[in-house]
Amino acid sequence: MMIKSHPGEGLLYQYASGDLSAAMTLVVGTHIDMCKACRQTVCEIEQKLCEENLDTLVSVASTTMSKSQCDQMLEAIFASSACNKQAHQPNEMLSLEGRRFTLPRTLAHNSHRIGEWSKLVGKLWRAPLTLDNGNQTNLIYMAPGAKLPEHTHKGKEATLVIDGVFNDEQSEYRDGDFILLDPSRTHTPETQDEDCLTLATLDAPLHFTSGISRLLNPFSQLFFR
Ligand SMILES: [Zn+2]
Repeated sequence: MMIKSHPGEGLLYQYASGDLSAAMTLVVGTHIDMCKACRQTVCEIEQKLCEENLDTLVSVASTTMSKSQCDQMLEAIFASSACNKQAHQPNEMLSLEGRRFTLPRTLAHNSHRIGEWSKLVGKLWRAPLTLDNGNQTNLIYMAPGAKLPEHTHKGKEATLVIDGVFNDEQSEYRDGDFILLDPSRTHTPETQDEDCLTLATLDAPLHFTSGISRLLNPFSQLFFR
């Protein structure tokens, strides 16, 4: 199945140069596990960055390191490049509500950080995934027929579909689709006949905008952070 929604090239560039927050790195990195096209793009960006920086690096290193230390360092740099990363390595399983999900590599490596699942309003489940520096992402599970109340975001929200399908007013999103929402956009994610597991990061709590769900605003901090 084709992934149709990808991180922009700017975001991939920031990913390759290590300029993203830990939370965003996890979400983008997991997309890259699932997406051959973005893996290729990041590979090309890394090669370019590497070429740009290599001369400087070598001249600095050669004044402070022995030849063999320098060679070792370069070897380590090339070995860590995205170009050499294998997309498919042993994956870990996640069980929830009688369903089993295969976690992509980057997420599987962080599975020990996944906290307790808690049931939210409606047919939604959420588990926090807290990274070393306190950055938080959330795994959100939507059972079939689930609906998140209409809301806006104070910060940018990145959502990645790990497994399943959900839709909002704009489109339908499936396995591997990466959605970046800016603060101005209101949206109402929902599932139809299928369920959906997503990984999401938020810079700021959700702000519910419609009807009775406005009452949730005082609690959105608890729900999604
Ligand atoms: Zn992609």
